Amino acid sequence: MAKRPTGSKKAPAPRRPASKAKATGAAKPSVPPAPSGQPSAAAPPSKAPEVGAPEAAAGHLSAISETPTPPTTPESTTSNASRPGERPSSTEPGKAPSKPATAPEPTPQPPIGAIQATSTPAPKGPTEPVPTAPTAAPAAELSTTGPQAKPEPARATEVTPAAGAAASEPVSAKARPPAPQPPPVEAEAPLREAESVHIEEPVPAEAPELPAEPQWEAHHQPHYRPSLFIVQISPEMAPVAKVGGLADVVFGLTRELAIRGNHVETILPKYDNLRYDHIYDMQQVFNDLWVPWYGGAIHCTVYFGFVHGRKCFFIEPHSGDNFFNRGSIYGFADDVMRYAFFSRAAMEFLFKAGKHPDVIHCHDWQTALVPVFLYEIYQYLGMTHPRACLTIHNFKHQGVTGMEVLRATGLHQPERYVDYNRLRDNHNPHALNLLKGGIVYSNFVTTVSPRYAFETKDGGQGFGLEPTLHTHHMKYGGVVNGIDYDAWNPETDHHIPVRYGLEHIDGKYDNKRALRHRLMLADNDKPIVAFIGRLDPQKGLDLVRHAIFYTLERGGQFVLLGSSPDHGINADFWGLKRMLNDSPDCHLEIGFDEDLSHLIYAGADMMLVPSRFEPCGLTQLIAMRYGTVPVVRAIGGLADTVFDKDFSDRPLHERNGYMFETYDQPGLESALGRAIACYYHHPDHFRELIKNAMRYDYSWNRPGEDYLNIYDYIRQK
Ligand code: ADP
Repeated sequence: MAKRPTGSKKAPAPRRPASKAKATGAAKPSVPPAPSGQPSAAAPPSKAPEVGAPEAAAGHLSAISETPTPPTTPESTTSNASRPGERPSSTEPGKAPSKPATAPEPTPQPPIGAIQATSTPAPKGPTEPVPTAPTAAPAAELSTTGPQAKPEPARATEVTPAAGAAASEPVSAKARPPAPQPPPVEAEAPLREAESVHIEEPVPAEAPELPAEPQWEAHHQPHYRPSLFIVQISPEMAPVAKVGGLADVVFGLTRELAIRGNHVETILPKYDNLRYDHIYDMQQVFNDLWVPWYGGAIHCTVYFGFVHGRKCFFIEPHSGDNFFNRGSIYGFADDVMRYAFFSRAAMEFLFKAGKHPDVIHCHDWQTALVPVFLYEIYQYLGMTHPRACLTIHNFKHQGVTGMEVLRATGLHQPERYVDYNRLRDNHNPHALNLLKGGIVYSNFVTTVSPRYAFETKDGGQGFGLEPTLHTHHMKYGGVVNGIDYDAWNPETDHHIPVRYGLEHIDGKYDNKRALRHRLMLADNDKPIVAFIGRLDPQKGLDLVRHAIFYTLERGGQFVLLGSSPDHGINADFWGLKRMLNDSPDCHLEIGFDEDLSHLIYAGADMMLVPSRFEPCGLTQLIAMRYGTVPVVRAIGGLADTVFDKDFSDRPLHERNGYMFETYDQPGLESALGRAIACYYHHPDHFRELIKNAMRYDYSWNRPGEDYLNIYDYIRQK
């Protein structure tokens, strides 16, 4: 018997005896019949960043969290974690950092009133003592619109206590025009006190005392907005340099901002493995960029090209470090240095090119030094106009590193930066935390969903940055990502054989057949459950594994597309793949394949996202766009975007998937089991779910508006 090849399936060879595939039968249509009826954000600094905003200003919180953990060993902290910039789990031997002359002490905390100033400070000289940061008007609208409780029916005996529902008070970064007179920040205000501007979901029953939330007018009130010059500085952008969701976000957001009449440019590293086939008219535009690095400078060339209409600059350094010619984007011991260099180079490029954007928007730890450079170096050189916005896509990766990066990038006063109120890591006083620096120095910080904003600040998901978020909570909030409706559109998608839409859903089932054909799955009446994602523990890999067997047991088919830079994880999944190689109902594709991902989104019936934590999650959003019903854990952005068919408080027509609360196998089974049962026993209901999912607007339209409001807000400070 020929075994199924375990490699790429683009040109699959027959691998299974016909009899086995046929045994599952193809007589019944694998399409649920047509329905017979309806189924059941310290405020942005004025001009200068909020540097030095005393962490103690968080009032009572400071007493708990402001005491730095004493170092146990002297260490170098250059990240050695599995993903670049991740907080190291242990100190790295053999790379002792250059310690400050005197061991850093916890910064004496100024009185709370010190953060009340709102005037625009003059540019600060590099030798100026630690400034007290102005805290202005509450910028982020803090929303109490927590997701509703999601009981798990299959676990009737262990009633899920609406975990997190009452406690969930996601922060929504619905920026509003600055209040004329900002309230003083005396202490960390309870989330509830901030006004909600946009109610996504009903208030949980557990929080009946919540006041009626005033509606934010920005969405509904057209108003004149001058065109802005916005520069995105990012390590990734789809499709030219994509590892995960960050790439999609930059791709989608830039387009939305441009559509709204703004001038948008993106700066990326010129990786050797860029998808050059997606870059139009690439040409050298700046040949003589010298970027300060250690005592000297590195010569760079800057290229310009269009990526699906987006204006992009690509920086190519010429040095022995060979920063970006390594065949892949991340995964190198010097990742922190590579992106510190890129951040400095991007700022140097803007400066030398005479660009003075209204807003510089940077992303994740890789470019979190940009606001630091802006306010510590370039404002003294005349770049006083731009404001800085940082979006954090995942708090797990922070760029925790040694002191070397200061010397390399020209931040020459270690005593200034190795300060608890600036870049010093909250746990290791001998380490710098680039992401923390970005939070401190940016005028506004967003993360990618209101629920995740809450979880990171108050729900223990901040990976040590909770106190920093508390200090800067007035300029912190969550904006749910959108998806690019041009790239992800079943009506126009060229990656799929049959295009379809809400009005002609049946085309989806031609794609289901095509998917089965491509992956050599049996053509039968079973539902296809899919998983697409990085094979990272964050994604709930043990539950993914369990879901494969559970799905097969419950009469479904399972398709997985994923890869990991971790050899151990990859090996595990290769083992699983071999084990299931002969199953006509299961296919695991270990690798990254954008093309196949489109076919899976179109051809699968359900998309599983059982994450341990999930800042936003794009897979469930894309899945819904393609009418693939999400089965997700109620966490982060998943809880903000998926509403359980059976237990949501939302009206029936808004329910779009299945959820479970508890991260364990029974939890997963409770949601997946219901989904499969609905597919088999209530196909009309299942079809309505598909329609509900497809009807939702998860485009960049709304998040684009939110970001523009944030930009407007910080520009006025
Ligand atoms: P994260 O940013 O944590 O990786 P998201 O859900 O936000 O997760 O975004 C994942 C994006 O990457 C989606 O567009 C998804 O389709 C894509 N993706 C993830 N893994 C793969 C893969 N192996 N092949 C193709 N696309 C993938």
